[in-house]
Amino acid sequence: MNLKFKLFLASLCTLVLIIVSFAVKCPAANDYLPGDSLKSNSSKPLVSPAPPSLAVVNQAEPKMTTFPKAGIPVLMYHSIKTLPGNSLGVPVKQFTEEITWLHNKGYHSITTDELYQTLANKAPIPEKPILLTFDDGYSDNYTSAWPILQKSGFRATFFIVTNSVGQGMMSWDQLSDLVKQGNSIGSHTVHHLDLSKLSYNKQENELISSKEALENHLGIKVQALCFPSGKFNKTTLELMAKTGYQLGFTTKQGRVHSGDDLLTLRRERIYGGMPLPSFQKLFP
Ligand SMILES: [Zn+2]
Repeated sequence: MNLKFKLFLASLCTLVLIIVSFAVKCPAANDYLPGDSLKSNSSKPLVSPAPPSLAVVNQAEPKMTTFPKAGIPVLMYHSIKTLPGNSLGVPVKQFTEEITWLHNKGYHSITTDELYQTLANKAPIPEKPILLTFDDGYSDNYTSAWPILQKSGFRATFFIVTNSVGQGMMSWDQLSDLVKQGNSIGSHTVHHLDLSKLSYNKQENELISSKEALENHLGIKVQALCFPSGKFNKTTLELMAKTGYQLGFTTKQGRVHSGDDLLTLRRERIYGGMPLPSFQKLFP
């Protein structure tokens, strides 16, 4: 009887400790979020339990499979905003239609690490995999794109120009929040210069300094580099191996196939004004 009571007390104490540690952690997670609009956006998943939705089901139980014969589509976005006369800007309405369509078609977003593991080590991958990438680090990636991605249970990879962080582009706090919610961050160098025109030393600095800044600020391991304007040369590829990059993303059109060179991966460019049927044709 006595022993039973002691056991009961011990488990009660453990339960109380767990509850207290959660209560301490949750408010702290809100502290770093800047701006009122961002607070209301980002506090949703922290405050309320996730409502049962298609998105949660979709991401929770993907069927795992081997590398698809048709290849893996890597989509390339930039700004999610109407930019008059500039096709790099994809309007919010267009983006929403594309992401909703992908979700309804049963696509599963993967991380750069999952792509690396399946390419390098033949690791299993969710069926209908897709990698969503965003270049340059526009603020609207956080304020417009991320809430839409989240609704569909998608995660993405953001390629950041470290010298521009917080300079009209996403801030370190916003990037940190994206990381906490399961997104990947890659380097888009320090200054967004044409790497193929830089000296060995300057290229080395662009690769190393951007990687270090992202790793130090965000506490992550950066494994992917996206070449500014898709420009690189032999030196870039040598330096990538030397400085610890495992994946390189170009602007060359096409899907990623098993056996592809890991440092020069292709992507599908999505442009502003792209009709939905043209987008759908990328997924035959
Ligand atoms: Zn760029």
